[in-house]
Amino acid sequence: MHVTGSKFLKIKCAKCMNEQIMFSKPSMSVKCLVCGELLATATGGKGAIKATVVEELDR
Ligand SMILES: [Zn+2]
Repeated sequence: MHVTGSKFLKIKCAKCMNEQIMFSKPSMSVKCLVCGELLATATGGKGAIKATVVEELDR
């Protein structure tokens, strides 16, 4: 399996404009901590991100 390294993303909720950090490959769904909007879903290895990615944070 090809591994590209882990990244963290700063995402913004389109609904309430809350910004939060998430892992680029979430193992489970990510919801907005403020309003509960679904921001990303886990789809076997690579997550489908529904929110706006503000910034990529390399580790
Ligand atoms: Zn929100």
